[in-house]
Amino acid sequence: MQTRKHNIITLCTRGITLALGMCLVGGLSVISSAHAASPVKALEERDVYYPGSEDLASDEMRVIACGTGMPNARPKQAAACWLVELGNGDKFLFDIGSGSSERISALKIPYDYLDKVFIGHLHSDHFGDLGDLWIGGVIGNRIKPLRVWGPSGHKPEFGTKYALSHMEKMFTWDSGSRLGNVDIRGQVLEVNEFDYKAVNKEIYNENGVSIRTIPAIHALDGPVSFILEWNGLKFAYSSDTFPNKWWMEHTKGADIAIHECFITPNDLVKKQKWTPGAALNVGTQVHTSPAQFGKVMSAIKPRLAVAYHFFNDFDTAPNVEKMVRTTYDGPLALAVDYMVFNITKDNIRVRMAVIDKDIWPQPAVGKKLPPDASKRIGFSEFITNGRVPFKDVVDKIYSDINKKYGTNIPTPK
Ligand SMILES: [Zn+2]
Ligand SMILES: [Zn+2]
Repeated sequence: MQTRKHNIITLCTRGITLALGMCLVGGLSVISSAHAASPVKALEERDVYYPGSEDLASDEMRVIACGTGMPNARPKQAAACWLVELGNGDKFLFDIGSGSSERISALKIPYDYLDKVFIGHLHSDHFGDLGDLWIGGVIGNRIKPLRVWGPSGHKPEFGTKYALSHMEKMFTWDSGSRLGNVDIRGQVLEVNEFDYKAVNKEIYNENGVSIRTIPAIHALDGPVSFILEWNGLKFAYSSDTFPNKWWMEHTKGADIAIHECFITPNDLVKKQKWTPGAALNVGTQVHTSPAQFGKVMSAIKPRLAVAYHFFNDFDTAPNVEKMVRTTYDGPLALAVDYMVFNITKDNIRVRMAVIDKDIWPQPAVGKKLPPDASKRIGFSEFITNGRVPFKDVVDKIYSDINKKYGTNIPTPK
């Protein structure tokens, strides 16, 4: 049904509510309702999501698109990243592609709650911002380890453990610089590598949440897809994959099925100047084309099919939708960043988030410890001797702060 309320048109079909212009759905019928408009009262309901402003019901799942684009992050779309929030208080990130850490910050969630990341494969557009979340989380107040799950590879050096141990090494200077300057308990990385060939194997089971892995087929051995189940709700996320038998078998009837859907080969040639050969290979063999995506969704019949991993613009979305609709006529959303899905057993509501660009990291939930200055690595004598301290100015800053907060912190020598 279609409802007009407060100048916002929403589309409802098969228990799915979507804000117009953001999603495309099939099989719509129309009704109308009227609320008395007022020149002085707030609107009764705003069909958008303001981060941090809504309770999540105990039986509800909220999924937020934090990256829906292609390998090159752009202002409108970061690369792959999906946040799943559950009514039991758990939050999970699936993939953490380039540019997505900015989207995550915008959601006003204390970093303490963002400590679980599941990586589908080790392409930069699926884990390029892991370093940002890890280190940014330390600065942004996460005071517990960052837990990461990711697949093995066909050789150890193609696996998640290898990649993350080298990421830690890459950040040696960064990590060292924070010793003694901030609370570094969040600097610990917990890496959980699992077999990429495992079929429907549970890799996580805590607090009533089960996460299973199935192999994906993409570029090289190693990629996987994930299935999260909680409270009778099933979330399936492909990361990147060519259509495959494991997805078809194990994601059937998902409440929300997020599957990659690459841009059409024709648009790859037209917009990105690819050769037809490269466009056909990448667009239909390395990735899933829109018509293949439709076939996949027709086979698994989710309550809502979500297509992502393409630049979703006025001139590309119609081509994607047209091709999907040659093979699938069920509920469909073409994802863009900040699309929000509220899922219960009875309803799926799809809206866009309204983002505050001035957002700051939220305070830590746990108590922060003062930095332990004895851990500081410090400067060489050569660099120390180059300091110009402006002692009169800094003394005043220390004395003002001490007065304001009742502290007695001496100015360092
Ligand atoms: Zn990939
Ligand atoms: Zn990708």
